[in-house]
Amino acid sequence: MLLEIAYMVLPLSISFELFPPRTPEGLAKLPAVIAQLAAAGPKYFSVTHGAGGSEQDGTYETLLTVVKHCGVEVAPHLTCVGSTRANIAAHLQRYRDAGVRRIVALRGDLPATAMSASAPGDFHYANELVSFIRETLGEHFLIEVAAYPEMHPQAPNSTVDFENFKRKVEAGADAAITQLFYNADAYFHFMERCEKAGIRIPVVPGIMPITGFANIVRFCGGCGADLPRWVRLRLEELEDDKPALQDFGAEVVTRLCETLLRGGAPGLHFYTINQAGPTLRLCKNLGLSLHVRE
Ligand SMILES: Cc1cc2nc3c(=O)[nH]c(=O)nc-3n(C[C@H](O)[C@H](O)[C@H](O)COP(=O)(O)OP(=O)(O)OC[C@H]3O[C@@H](n4cnc5c(N)ncnc54)[C@H](O)[C@@H]3O)c2cc1C
Repeated sequence: MLLEIAYMVLPLSISFELFPPRTPEGLAKLPAVIAQLAAAGPKYFSVTHGAGGSEQDGTYETLLTVVKHCGVEVAPHLTCVGSTRANIAAHLQRYRDAGVRRIVALRGDLPATAMSASAPGDFHYANELVSFIRETLGEHFLIEVAAYPEMHPQAPNSTVDFENFKRKVEAGADAAITQLFYNADAYFHFMERCEKAGIRIPVVPGIMPITGFANIVRFCGGCGADLPRWVRLRLEELEDDKPALQDFGAEVVTRLCETLLRGGAPGLHFYTINQAGPTLRLCKNLGLSLHVRE
């Protein structure tokens, strides 16, 4: 099903997120996943970065794998909580030397026991990282930050959280990617708040394909995203019929993406979980790529 819709004529920002593989099998299949996703013509790949020490070399290795297997731009994520200025400066220098021009600047999450205003390190919030990047490297990097249409789970309320988002924009963020969500209205409400606050940077919805009941419930629970009741009930019912569950999941997420794009979203950022199939299926449903094969 190719959708004949007006958004296709606009230059959309379509990006794919990868994580550094944690197993030898994941590592072995990564080049093929990258090649399949690259064929869909994304604007860039992003690569996650663990907070407080985990996965940090993995981000760089994965970035090099993307560079080696396709010519698509790569944006490493950089988390700052628990890090020193010297450590962050070293990461930035390494990325600059590798030709990187885009960074996803984040606070990250330390284990709950270490996560407090007195956490070790020179940074406590992402706006401090954005300021540090601008102070040390000027305009070299295009800086993406995270946005939370359904509020960050640790924020006391949505007004405070929005003010904190604004701080990141004022510190020099060029664009934002949202946390995953399944309520288009939450995104549109967030965009209305941006409009009223004079925030004009692109805010690209983060899209998580639905491929299983337990994992989507876990992802939503982990980041405070609301999985609509009717979707949760239907996924639970289809839990033992994987093809039917995946058809339903693809239908729900395709409809979400269509609504977002028709409502003016400037693009889509797919949380691929290092699997090409579910994301490419959505791109194909949305008519986003001429290269996606049957
Ligand atoms: C697109 C995207 C990509 C992600 N990639 C990764 C990744 O690669 N690795 C990883 O570990 N995690 C990643 N995360 C998760 C992210 O690290 C967590 O959501 C984390 O809890 C918050 O990061 P942040 O950059 O949004 O933090 P912040 O913007 O710093 O916000 C964190 C919390 O602190 C509050 N706050 C912000 N600034 C201040 C301030 N100055 N004073 C007081 N309170 C403040 C906010 O309201 C919010 O509740 C990603 C999230 C998104 C949406």
